[in-house]
Amino acid sequence: MKQILKLLSIIVLASITSLSLYSQENRILRIVRGKVDSTASKVHFIVGVAEKGSQVYVNKASVKQYETGSFGVELLLEEGENSVEVEAKKGDTVEKESFTIYYKKKKPVVAEPSTTYTLPVVVTKRGAYLNYGVGGDRLGGAKINFLAQGIKMELLAVEESLYKVKLSENRYAYIPKKFVEILPFGEKPNFSHTGSWTVSKFGNRDIVRVSLEERQPYTIYRDPQLNRIVVDIHGVACNSNWITQYLNLEAIEYVHLNQKESDVLSVIIKLKDKYSWGYSVDYSGTALEISVRHTPDVLKGKSKTRSKNSLAGLYFGIDAGHGGKSTGAVSPSGMKEKDLNLAMVYMLKEEIESRGGRVILSRTEDIDMTMQERKDLFINEGVDMVLSVHCNAGGNPLTQMGTSTYYRHIENRPLAKSVLKRMLELNLKNFGLVGNFNFSLVAPTDFPAILVETLFMSSLPEEEQLASEEFQKKIMAKVALGLEDYIKMVKSSL
Ligand SMILES: [Zn+2]
Repeated sequence: MKQILKLLSIIVLASITSLSLYSQENRILRIVRGKVDSTASKVHFIVGVAEKGSQVYVNKASVKQYETGSFGVELLLEEGENSVEVEAKKGDTVEKESFTIYYKKKKPVVAEPSTTYTLPVVVTKRGAYLNYGVGGDRLGGAKINFLAQGIKMELLAVEESLYKVKLSENRYAYIPKKFVEILPFGEKPNFSHTGSWTVSKFGNRDIVRVSLEERQPYTIYRDPQLNRIVVDIHGVACNSNWITQYLNLEAIEYVHLNQKESDVLSVIIKLKDKYSWGYSVDYSGTALEISVRHTPDVLKGKSKTRSKNSLAGLYFGIDAGHGGKSTGAVSPSGMKEKDLNLAMVYMLKEEIESRGGRVILSRTEDIDMTMQERKDLFINEGVDMVLSVHCNAGGNPLTQMGTSTYYRHIENRPLAKSVLKRMLELNLKNFGLVGNFNFSLVAPTDFPAILVETLFMSSLPEEEQLASEEFQKKIMAKVALGLEDYIKMVKSSL
């Protein structure tokens, strides 16, 4: 009992001493916010109050004191230990508070799904794309979309030249073997949480940037009814509580997100304009960037351009199909498609230029050129749209087969339709307006792109027409009129 009493009196004495010490030490300075041992945020605020009329310093720098006596400062912390010294001076009285804050970058708290990976993992190379299935016609399996490089996916099965890969728990796809590398056994596929999002204008594009921990696979869907681009990111859980969106955006109305499955996050991009000028999806580091092109400024101008300059200010990428070793179709009399295509693109170039438009040709002579080279050229040039000119083959050689235009992405249908309508004015048979067409040069989403199949080289009556330079000029003039119609339509929609 005696011992306990003794102990109690020591405690009481000790607490009285510390109280009096505290009150003595803090007569003019008190810190009310920011005196913490550790934080996960780089930006850190210190707020305090000092006796009115004091001079306040934080880490030796003078800080404004308000009429109320309060003061505050924003610190940018370094990773690890940060020393903070707050000092208040009034007359001869100087008071100091020193402490350290430990800053550790935040790691998302959500746990990774615990799965044992017994399957190998592949990583994508440049030029990779996903297919829905194994496919098998001459154009290859139907494509979902291109995929950036450096994306890891679990390998589920091998199907001839394709790998079946897992995108997320309920979704798989196929990828050509040549576009992936198999990683050493034991590698895991990635799983990410989203970090910050921004939506901002940069040059002639609006860019949506979604920070992720790793590069995840994605699938893109264009919704024409609601005028949206939807990008599903697989193997991702949302950890973002806001999306910063600037008001100067030109192509994007707003961005929204939807965690549609536990490991699939949809980025929903609502567009402003009815007609599309292309978009691209790629990684910058581990941030997914969806970049949407603005409608060219020249179309927004109020001035009424005379029809002579109906294509002024626009830049066209015109491609002559085949070339070099790739002859394309050969007609019964021996005409080669590659030569006809080349002759016709020069005629189209002239038609476009006479309307004020600018043209770049993919090939200007009879040379080999891969689809990737053609695509890269047009992307690097920043063309406003792409037209690939070909001649068709197949079917009945004794009858007219007809003319046709093709698009891969639904947003390019109006362009393909405008051109086809004009070509049909030459009393040609209508072979069709063909959608979802799996041809590499209409696959990029970077710009509106269509394929024009003038006539069939295998049809004797059409071979005769194609052989005439006069007819070639006529049909290319119609293509140019189709472009003009399309541009008029775009202008009137703005
Ligand atoms: Zn061809």
